[in-house]
Amino acid sequence: MSGTPAKETSDADGCATLGGLLSFLRHPKHSLWKGVARRLLAHAEGAEDAALAFLAPIMVRNLKRKIAVPHPIRSTRFLECSAAERLAYNSLVAFFQANLVLTGLQGAVTGAGADVSLLHHNNLKSARKAVENVRLASNGGGKQLATLSPHYFRECCAWLSERYRAPSRVVERACAFMTAAQSGDATPCDKCGLPLLLQLLMPMCGHLCCPECVDSASAASSAAAEEGGEQAARHDDFPSLRGGARHAEGVRELCACPVCAEALPELEYLKCPRCDDVVCSHGERRVLTQAHPLDAFAYVQPGFDLQVMTTDDH
Ligand SMILES: [Zn+2]
Ligand SMILES: [Zn+2]
Ligand SMILES: [Zn+2]
Repeated sequence: MSGTPAKETSDADGCATLGGLLSFLRHPKHSLWKGVARRLLAHAEGAEDAALAFLAPIMVRNLKRKIAVPHPIRSTRFLECSAAERLAYNSLVAFFQANLVLTGLQGAVTGAGADVSLLHHNNLKSARKAVENVRLASNGGGKQLATLSPHYFRECCAWLSERYRAPSRVVERACAFMTAAQSGDATPCDKCGLPLLLQLLMPMCGHLCCPECVDSASAASSAAAEEGGEQAARHDDFPSLRGGARHAEGVRELCACPVCAEALPELEYLKCPRCDDVVCSHGERRVLTQAHPLDAFAYVQPGFDLQVMTTDDH
């Protein structure tokens, strides 16, 4: 007839569930249940017997503890994923890793990017969406769609050519990468070869690196900084800002490109006093600004948006 479980949280809940069931079954006397239930809940004299008499011809009560359901048999089977599925999954995971790596770097201010980190409580919704998307991608049949607004595209090129004074081959390589990503073509990491839709762009040499390679490089240089070695001293361009204090736990350093070891430079450029856009309409006199090497590295990354597009054939 129906296997609907009745809630046992409270008598009122239970009565309401039974009422719903009776009306679903279109039992001829279902409209009378309300009165029976009301009396039962008020503990009226003889109400329990009345309720039993009402339900007995219609329903059988089975208690969970009286039903012996055998334990499920669980086994793990590993499935090979297709190249497309692997790319979709890896690209999505790398997208979140990039967020965590970039926002965890030690810039001019400790934790400057923390408010856009997926670990920040303000971004709980985005973080949930991220986990949901990983789940979608794991189910197969999904395709990643990388989008970049023309404004962000131009801005990345302008940062490279005007602020980093990057050679034209670097700007061209960045443009090729941004175009490829938007057409769904993967680019291999220049360090480990992992193909991903989105890679992190090294602004001096144009190398493209996966977040894991950038993270390993930053872990290595953070360890070197901890030891207070010569390397750390050489790259500590902002000792006054750091006040010579030890770095906060979990905060990462990154000194150079993980592929060619070219150092991340500190940037000096003319900037609008009201915003950090390369081209803006504020029309104010530009002032000379210095950017910490790691802040500049985070800013130059193209502002891609990555979405999962599910296909119906799975
Ligand atoms: Zn890599
Ligand atoms: Zn490089
Ligand atoms: Zn401006």
